[in-house]
Amino acid sequence: MPRLSLGGLEITRIQAGIYHWDGGAIFGVVPKTLWSKAAPADELNRIAMAFNCYVIQTGDHTILVETGEGGKMPDKARARMKLPAVHQPLAEILAANGIDPDKIDIVVNTHLHFDHCGGNTILTGGAARAAFPNARYYTRRGEWEHAHERHIRDSVSYIDNNYDPLVESGQMELLDDDREVAPGVKVHLAPGHNRDMMVLTASSSGRTFCFFSDLIPSAAHLTPSWVAAFDLFPLQAIDNKIRWIERASRGDWVCGFGHDKDVAFATLKPDGQISPQEIYANTDAK
Ligand SMILES: [Zn+2]
Repeated sequence: MPRLSLGGLEITRIQAGIYHWDGGAIFGVVPKTLWSKAAPADELNRIAMAFNCYVIQTGDHTILVETGEGGKMPDKARARMKLPAVHQPLAEILAANGIDPDKIDIVVNTHLHFDHCGGNTILTGGAARAAFPNARYYTRRGEWEHAHERHIRDSVSYIDNNYDPLVESGQMELLDDDREVAPGVKVHLAPGHNRDMMVLTASSSGRTFCFFSDLIPSAAHLTPSWVAAFDLFPLQAIDNKIRWIERASRGDWVCGFGHDKDVAFATLKPDGQISPQEIYANTDAK
């Protein structure tokens, strides 16, 4: 898996799986004649995406950002996404990539859609337990409240077993404000995809890594008006995207995307496009 050193941080992009979703939903009002150049569709109009997670090792902390889909979706939904019949637990994927899952002491969920927090817990006999028992988990209170509203627009995205057992046990903290979860590692409210989604920055020795999550789910979505049909607040998504891209290019930040299956790390030009020489894809990772 792609890994890089940034200041005093070691950052690894872990893919909790590759899935397929309708390209029209991923690119909203953008015509297929345009988006299909960036992401070719299969015979059912699906494009390949990844459940991207990032591990940030600071020396004192091992921080896991997102936990993938977690294998709790019904078989029919798994087949629709072309997910393998047998789910591989994230802890196993981490261990196979040289990261001891027991060392993870902080887990951040940018929001609570199943594809970002599904691996928080493991189900045994219907009971959910923490997949990362030594970690403190963080998400935003407003997102947890929204999950429980069960609005018909997005209720399908929420599986309570991914977070409620952790909230009840006190292992998951619900944040009311932006927070530094470890020295230099901060979560920031960035609405658009939904009301309470967060992006994460990690800074050390003057360098910054930024995980955009679903504010910019793939490098193709760097074009500000390319917004997924999923987004509940598309105008806010566009405005926030422009703001964060401007910050990222000004600061020469290294950026990661929620679902890009190829680009693990990228720096951005002021117009929001990737600096070509700075793409660290799967094949040429440092
Ligand atoms: Zn997502």
